[in-house]
Amino acid sequence: MANPSLSEQPPLVLNGGNSLHPQKRIFIGLLVATCLLLGFILAILWYVPYVGFTNIHPKLPLILGIIFGSLIVLVLAGVFLLTLTIILGRDLFISRKLRGIIVKIVFPLLIGVGRLFGVNKERVQQSFIEINNQLVLAQHIKAKPDKILLLMPHCLQFHDCPVRITGNVENCKRCGKCHIKGLVEISDKYRVGLAVATGGTIARRIIVERRPRVIVAVACERDLVSGLQDSYPLPVFGILNHRPNGPCFDTQVDLDRVEQAVQAFLAEAPSQS
Ligand code: SF4
Repeated sequence: MANPSLSEQPPLVLNGGNSLHPQKRIFIGLLVATCLLLGFILAILWYVPYVGFTNIHPKLPLILGIIFGSLIVLVLAGVFLLTLTIILGRDLFISRKLRGIIVKIVFPLLIGVGRLFGVNKERVQQSFIEINNQLVLAQHIKAKPDKILLLMPHCLQFHDCPVRITGNVENCKRCGKCHIKGLVEISDKYRVGLAVATGGTIARRIIVERRPRVIVAVACERDLVSGLQDSYPLPVFGILNHRPNGPCFDTQVDLDRVEQAVQAFLAEAPSQS
């Protein structure tokens, strides 16, 4: 089966590399908007009760001003570090923690701010996946083949395929009617793990059983985002599936991107045998 969008993807830099790809710009733009909103709210919170605070203690407005000001500086420093990590593609000293803050706190906040500015949820999700990938790559993780897991959605399998691959992907007959064939070939070539999950619960069970060091996951925006959040702090590199036949039906994946991701995380080159 032809791999549809390979020519559109930049080689090996995995979706835009360190440049400010449009998806990343959305995320950073929303982040800056959130900062400004937060700064405005904090300033109001400080200023409105200003007179009342003076009545309690004349120095109270100054103390609260310092606290709120420090909060704003902290948020700005976080945004600055995040932007720098994305642009440089390097593991700045707190980028691992930064990913945690983004996954747990910033992303849900940005969905709300995005709605406020008319940016649809799917675009914010795509942007979040991109930023997450950049931070995962910035960690320069290197793992043994058996510690890399390719986690795939069941909708990649051809709808009329009689073979059951959820328990064991090796059951695939490699007929080429769907991209499972190509994924099995990548798994065999690099000796990395490959699993197909029918849902979040099964995916979690596979992760617990296989204990990977890093996951390359393929899914739609919604499933990838929830997977990234559920699996944190485990690093997950997310690749969006293609849905030429509509959602959840005979979906496809850019096999080159999967292979590039495997190469990026692999500690050793595959043997030629
Ligand atoms: S490539 Fe494998 S999974 Fe896909 S239709 Fe053929 S046998 Fe089924």
